[in-house]
Amino acid sequence: MTEILRPKVLVIGGGPGGYVAAIRAGQLGLDTVLVETGRLGGTCLTRGCIPSKALIHAAGLYDEAVLASSQAGRFGIHLNQAPRLDFKETVAWKDGIVDRLSGGVGGLLRKARVRTVTGWAKFSDAKTCSVETAEGAVTIRPEHVILATGSTAVELPFLPLGGRVISSTEALSLDEVPATLAVVGGGYIGLELGIAYAKLGSKVTIVEALDRILPLYDTALTGPVSRWLERHGVSVHLGAKALGQDEDGLLIETAGGESRLTIPAERILVTVGRQPLTEGWGLEQMALEREGRFVKVDDRCATSTTNVWAIGDLVGEPMLAHKASAQGEMVAEIIAGHRRRFDPAAIAAVCFTEPEIVSVGLTPDQSPDNVETIVGQFPFQANGRALSMQAGDDGGFVRVLARKSDHRILGIQAVGRHCSELAGQFATLMEMGAVLEDVAGIIHVHPTLGEAVHESALKALGHAIHI
Ligand code: FAD
Ligand code: NAD
Repeated sequence: MTEILRPKVLVIGGGPGGYVAAIRAGQLGLDTVLVETGRLGGTCLTRGCIPSKALIHAAGLYDEAVLASSQAGRFGIHLNQAPRLDFKETVAWKDGIVDRLSGGVGGLLRKARVRTVTGWAKFSDAKTCSVETAEGAVTIRPEHVILATGSTAVELPFLPLGGRVISSTEALSLDEVPATLAVVGGGYIGLELGIAYAKLGSKVTIVEALDRILPLYDTALTGPVSRWLERHGVSVHLGAKALGQDEDGLLIETAGGESRLTIPAERILVTVGRQPLTEGWGLEQMALEREGRFVKVDDRCATSTTNVWAIGDLVGEPMLAHKASAQGEMVAEIIAGHRRRFDPAAIAAVCFTEPEIVSVGLTPDQSPDNVETIVGQFPFQANGRALSMQAGDDGGFVRVLARKSDHRILGIQAVGRHCSELAGQFATLMEMGAVLEDVAGIIHVHPTLGEAVHESALKALGHAIHI
């Protein structure tokens, strides 16, 4: 027999968009059902942000241990023997973190009195959803629908996933570290995971179609990452095309079609972007307008169909977990009667490469033509804390962009080890409409990387102390 539910709110997808929307709706007293086909936490918790950062952390520790066991040692630390990596244990440790977080999300949903239905949701019209669960069929007829189906990896037709060709999902759960790894796509995932595997001992080659890595960031910010790759023997082919695979590895055409070569590859990791998950759940039955590949929404995340809302990776760039969560929280509040709009001053982005990059707002090359701006850049090499943590290696810095007329901060970026933790401060400055004098007037703790933020504002004002 089919169970019929009539909640106020139905959320599809238990990623950082959907589960946050459901918890907030529950907190606000709305009768809420969440449908998730896989594990709670979605891409982010189970095969994205969290497991990748766990792997990156473990890879960093291993790399340091390898250095400490070399002839030169590390900061006077000498290990008498090379460290031994049991990668299965590393992956199991990572899985433990995922289990803990996914279980935690389940607990939070229960606490907020959200009912979770496990199975694949399918709509026959905008307000009728069927789910086949292990316990039987469930039909859900809600008043409001929040779609948070997320995204999937883009595949290349000439390199279909399977065998040695893998996506980030498989790359996060390999049995062993591949001796050789070819990465197609030098964006976020390709570089984060490519660098992690290089630290774990793979010979990594990155193949990027454009003429630079991480095209989302300017070359000043990516320069330190390029230098790290060069110093650590990671080969990078820019302007190159992947063509397919042969027995030995990945077949590519180098820049300008100059030559064809095979990159030896035990594994080929394809990371050429992600696409919204718009198929297989009845989008066509819901009369939803599209904007390119994405579901079209307005500044309240309302779709073209009344009381159908959409959030997260499904609705567009940036495809970031914190944007998905912010939209989820907002939509729940709108349904509960609050007046809200999605209008952030800026959404911070961090790339967890070596070194890390953090960026909020405009970069100098994005300054509007009709606005005079000033830039203050301060090198981590001149910051004590940075030196003690090697944040200034390879040329890291903090850079602030401000309007010349009133010193209003338009954007702020940094590149350096551990600088991802500055993202919160950067976002706060942007969201609060700070001017350079605000930053200059704040006493920053010594010794911290934050002092470099202070100095970048002083530099823009013409009176940096430590350079
Ligand atoms: P998702 O997290 O994709 O969740 C969607 C959920 O919906 C999935 O669990 C899916 O199973 C479920 N679903 C879909 N359709 C149905 C259906 N019909 N019925 C039932 N369930 C359904 N972002 C960051 O901000 N920081 C990072 O460091 C970061 N690292 C990343 C690393 C990797 C390797 C990857 C792949 C992504 C990373 N991201 C990162 C991006 C981030 O994971 C996404 O932006 C985020 O997960 C989007 O959240 P979402 O809720 O929109 O969708
Ligand atoms: P991406 O868009 O960051 O990078 C894809 C790269 O592949 C680009 O540089 C592109 O030029 C290149 N490319 C495309 N087609 C190619 C081809 N045929 N051959 C060679 N190169 C090609 O995509 P991604 O790395 O797959 O990550 C997807 C999304 O996940 C990101 O855009 C981001 O939103 C999210 N993400 C975020 C983080 C983070 O916040 N730290 C980490 C990982 C992923």
